[in-house]
Amino acid sequence: ARCMTASAVSQSDYQHLRTLGANHLNKGVGRITDGIMVKGEGSYVKYDDGRKYLDFTCGIGVTNLGHANKRVSRAAAEQCMKLVHSQCSIAMHEPYLRLIQNILPVMPHKSLDSFFFWNSGSEAVEASLKMARTLTGRQNIICMQGAYHGRTYGAMAVTKSKTIYSQNTHPLMPGAFSIPFPYWHNMNLPPDTPVSKLTEQCLYQLDLLLAQQTHPKDTAAIIVEPVLGEGGYVAAPKEFLEGLRRVCDQHGMLLIVDEVQSGYGRTGTMFAIEESGVRPDMMIIAKGLGNGFPISGVISRRELTDKLAPGTVGGTYAGNAVSCAAAAEVLEVFKEDKILENVAVRSKQLFKHLESLQQDPTLAPYILDIRGRGLMIGIEFASRTGIAPTSTQHEVGIVADAPEKMASRVAKKCIEKGMLILTTSVYEVVRFIPPLNVKEDD
Ligand code: PLP
Repeated sequence: ARCMTASAVSQSDYQHLRTLGANHLNKGVGRITDGIMVKGEGSYVKYDDGRKYLDFTCGIGVTNLGHANKRVSRAAAEQCMKLVHSQCSIAMHEPYLRLIQNILPVMPHKSLDSFFFWNSGSEAVEASLKMARTLTGRQNIICMQGAYHGRTYGAMAVTKSKTIYSQNTHPLMPGAFSIPFPYWHNMNLPPDTPVSKLTEQCLYQLDLLLAQQTHPKDTAAIIVEPVLGEGGYVAAPKEFLEGLRRVCDQHGMLLIVDEVQSGYGRTGTMFAIEESGVRPDMMIIAKGLGNGFPISGVISRRELTDKLAPGTVGGTYAGNAVSCAAAAEVLEVFKEDKILENVAVRSKQLFKHLESLQQDPTLAPYILDIRGRGLMIGIEFASRTGIAPTSTQHEVGIVADAPEKMASRVAKKCIEKGMLILTTSVYEVVRFIPPLNVKEDD
């Protein structure tokens, strides 16, 4: 309601709120703009002082159907007047079941037939790790270098993209081991290294890990993002995902696919894993699932989850009725508004324009890579010094006369010109995360 009446709020009210923010907001959150966001509509957001931005962050890949999508907001508002909350151990509620009904047909594999919903991506990651350990009776988890899975303790243990996320918080969940993700920069190889070579080396590292550090009989699961999000917007090659599946099958380990950022149409298919044809044992979803209403989920197989003792999973707000109603409606909009078709067309448009930057001889030396799938697109710029200013080991991606901190400078410039855009946690990458129903002119 406050958003709708934004224009009725006086400037002195806003000034008061700004002062409150300046004095009381947690400084642990880094903000890329100042001022107060008061309204979101489609691809745009507005601030208290009249600033309007084209939002290519989507609240970090959440508002995929645009801000305050009318259909989704209406479904949530109607649910608010019927039942806001019950708690899943007391009774299943209608929106929860409607969500299952709508989501079942879009599953990337028909074996994924058991659903549980939480509130945030991190919570769902925690749940998946706990379920994997419980179901296999094994403790260790293998994750990817460059991965991001969240900021809670289990999720931080399998997050390997930036040390700041878990600095001064150790010990984390024990038993997290990592292998390189097939990405040239991660592996200190030139950008034109063939994908087959990158994949081969990473799978070799996995074999070594299982032979030298964590015996398969102690290893519960491998967790992987099909497209690295915070780690630089890099898609995993099909052969790599197939290799992970093979190793999991060979040793009775579970494959957990984290689609929190890559899922829900972001990469052009409903889930990024679809393109590889690889079957996950568990799939984690969040972000676009509720288009802004907090909801996440772990999807697995009945055959597996039937083995869990009642009470193993849950939480007071897990599968909240309003969020479920919004999420059920999101899938209706996907169908009716032909969202995936728009992603295909807009993706081509965006790639074409970004790639044309490489034709400019003054820019070309500093653009290392333009990559991604669908509307999950990143540009990697050259860096002057490597991943850390003191780094001497990492030599790829370095161009001595590259401007410093190019990605954040580009992002800052975009913001000055009226477009919100983010960088990734590592390397000099600017990421484009527009709404999936973004219009041609936007
Ligand atoms: N997994 C991935 C791939 C993510 O990108 C994120 C968040 O960005 C998470 C998990 C954590 O989700 P949340 O921030 O909702 O806890």
